[in-house]
Order: sequence, then structure tokens, then C-alpha cells
Amino acid sequence: MKANKNKIRNPFLILLISLIGIGVVSGILLLTHLHTPTINKEAVVEAMVETEMMQTNTAPTTVGKETTTPTSSQAAAQQTPETQETAIDPAVYIENEFSRENFETAIRQLSGDIPVIIDGQETRIETRYSYAMFTNQPNAKAEEFLLQTLRQWVPENQITVEPYVYVDGMGGNTWYNLIVTFPGTVTPQEQILFTAHYDSCVVFEGDPMVSAPGADDNGTGVATLLEAVRIFSTMKFERTLKVIFFSGEENFQQGSKAYAEQHANDNITAVLNMDMFGTDKDGDRCFEMYVGELPGSQKIADLLLQTIQENRLNLKADYLVSNAYAKADQKSFWDRNIPAITVMENFLPDYSPGGCEGVTDRTDFWHLPGDKIEAINLEYAFDIGKAGILTVLKLAGAIPVVPK
Ligand SMILES: [Zn+2]
Repeated sequence: MKANKNKIRNPFLILLISLIGIGVVSGILLLTHLHTPTINKEAVVEAMVETEMMQTNTAPTTVGKETTTPTSSQAAAQQTPETQETAIDPAVYIENEFSRENFETAIRQLSGDIPVIIDGQETRIETRYSYAMFTNQPNAKAEEFLLQTLRQWVPENQITVEPYVYVDGMGGNTWYNLIVTFPGTVTPQEQILFTAHYDSCVVFEGDPMVSAPGADDNGTGVATLLEAVRIFSTMKFERTLKVIFFSGEENFQQGSKAYAEQHANDNITAVLNMDMFGTDKDGDRCFEMYVGELPGSQKIADLLLQTIQENRLNLKADYLVSNAYAKADQKSFWDRNIPAITVMENFLPDYSPGGCEGVTDRTDFWHLPGDKIEAINLEYAFDIGKAGILTVLKLAGAIPVVPK
């Protein structure tokens, strides 16, 4: 009886209750819709704080550091509201995508161990000596190989072939750096550079115009960058990320010097350079980092070490500050007060606590015709490459990935 009495028969009341119900359900749906992925947000934010600190320490290269930026999760929500529930943590994405097989194949192709097809013609890249590559030698088609490979993954408007002139004793030579740009979605004016030199040479024996395989120096770095471009082409970043293949490194870092000069007005926040990291004969999984004196560079190195820990990569490194090797591409950026580090195998006897303990464990084939894949410790090189890519995710503010 009571129940009967309480039953609402008034159609207006029913309508009102229905409307309230619809309102509540819509509200819940909207909240769910706007709910952003929390995966590894902390790590990304931490990285943002890191880079902001870098900027503070490198006033000459800083532009607009006061800009308020949405958090990475907000950015992700703006871009992919309908499917964000399934967004993948960028580090997990790299773990799944970075291919050991592709890495090895690229080193074999770059060092002439296996042939490549260029413009329908089978050929071998027997040397990547800049003088041979840019005089159109048929055994030195590395630039063509890289460009055709990159074009598989990224549209032409993201690829830049940047010439520079290197004047030697004989006159001027026009050489080329290759740049792949992933425009930032939140703070595009801030640039992160992930770099490696693609040229090679032999010095102590042989003729670099004929054969300079350079599987370790720097096939390891170039293979890492190629995989990075392939994977990054399916990702988004808060900051602008440039993956750069320098030429002319073996001629006093001409390529990176020219780049730093041509881009003197860019706001380059951090440079991570990968150069020759395929040798680990003693199996200690130790490498070295040329960190230098700039506080911003030290932030990059710290972030790399932290990334190794977080991802349990079981690597350790010498952290070289005053005794860093100055004949690698990071130096071209140091000269302009831009934070930069180079990652290399355990090349120097200098060491730091927790590092390689004063031993040297470098390739026996440095700048020799024997710098071939057989001498490379692929597990070690692959893991260092992975550490580099994972660090770049943080520097550039990688946004969680929505599978297609
Ligand atoms: Zn090198």
C-alpha cells in the first residue's frame, strides 16, 4: 500500500527524474572520456623538469622557458581522446618495437657485409669515407641508402639534406648532413637532437676510398638512429626531436661543426650523440660518456644512467667530465654552450666511480679495414642503443602511444 502510494505516476516527475538520470550518466561518461592515461606520467614530467633545469643552466640557448606547457597527459588527451584507454607507455613501446634483427641487418648493410639495393641496382657500401660518398663513387652509396630507407618511414617534408662546404688543402668540398624532424606538439621551439656520424675512414692501413667498413665506428650509432626513426615515425613528442646523421666526423667533426654553425639560432636543449659502442671483449657491459663541464650536459648523462636503472639494462658507464674525449661530435655543441654528451664504448683508460674501473676495452680495429660486424658484441651494442633511445623519449617528452 505504502509502496503504491509512493509510486510516482506524475509524468512531469518521471521526465524530471529521467533528465537528472541522463545528466548523471553523461557526466560519468564525460569524466571517463576526459580521464587521461597515467602511465609513466611521472617519468615524463620528471624529464620535463630535468630539461627545464638544463635550460636554466644554459641561458644562451634558452628561448621562452617561461612558457606554461600542458602536461604530457593533457597533450595526449587532446590528441587522442577517443582511444586513450589503450595508450602504451613509450618505454614499453620501445621495448616491443626496437628490433635486434633490424639493428644487426643495418650494421651489415652499412659496412658492406651484405648488399643493398639502390635505385634497383644491387651494390655494396664498401666505404663511407666522406670524400668517396660525395664524389658519387659506386662503392660509397651510404647517403643514398640512408635516404631511401628513411623515406620508407617518414614523409619527404620531414627529411632535410643539408649541404656544407669543407675547405681542405685542395679546395672546397660539398658534403651533406641528413636530418629527420619530428615537430613538437607542445613546445616545438625546444629542440632535442639525437645524433650519430655516418661517415667512416681507415687511417692506419688500407685506402679509405676503397674500403672503410666502419661497422663499429659508427655503424652501431647509425643502426640505432635508423631504428629510432622507424619507431619515432609512429610516435608524438612534446618537444621537437631531430634525428641527425652527420658526415665529415672523421675529418675533424666537419658535419657537426657545420650543423652547429648553420643552426646557431635554434633553441637546442639537449644533444645525445652515439658514436662507436660495439666492443665489449671483457664482458663487463661498461661504456663511457663524454659529459664535460656544462651542467646541462651532466643532466643528460644523469638521465641516461637513471634510464639504464629504470629499464634494468644492466649497463654501467664511465662519466668523464674534465677528461672527456674532445674529438667527437658533442664537442661542436660544447663550443657553443649547448648541452651535449657522446656515448662510446670503453675507449679511454680514464674512469669514474661505478664505471669501468680503469681498464680499456676498445675495438682492435679502430680506423682499420677489420672494423667488421664479426668483432662487434651485438647484445651490448643493442642495449646501449636502447638506452640512448629510451633517454631521448624523456628528453623529448614522448607521449603515450595509441596503437593504430
Ligand atoms: Zn666515430
